[in-house]
Amino acid sequence: MGVFQRMKNGLIRFMYGRNGTDQLNMALLWGYLGLCIGRTVFALLRMKAPVTVVDALLPVVAVILLFRMFSKNLYKRREENQKFVNWQWRVKNRSAGAKERHADKSHKYFTCKSCKTICRVPVGKGKIEITCPKCGTKIQGKT
Ligand SMILES: [Zn+2]
Repeated sequence: MGVFQRMKNGLIRFMYGRNGTDQLNMALLWGYLGLCIGRTVFALLRMKAPVTVVDALLPVVAVILLFRMFSKNLYKRREENQKFVNWQWRVKNRSAGAKERHADKSHKYFTCKSCKTICRVPVGKGKIEITCPKCGTKIQGKT
């Protein structure tokens, strides 16, 4: 067996039962790379404060990334990853929804201040008071 084959086997054995790479770790990795690029840009621009901040952040991100990668507490890591994936999905969904609402010219959308429900009202009703269907909060707006 060659050296590389042995190294590969060793790595596989080492990673067995560990978390490895999940979506959250990939995002952390991209964040780390982004910070590296940002640091280079800030250094080129001779901006001292941002470079100091990034220098402080880089090892923190690296430690979290390595910790999650080699962690054997799969249940906990999966839970964290699931939370992250859900959050990512919500953000994506929200921006897609915003685009759709922007394209809709015959309705006006109001966001309830207390429960964040989006209420749709037809345009051209003048000044109105909307009652949130979810929590009953009154929203005043012009359509
Ligand atoms: Zn509401």
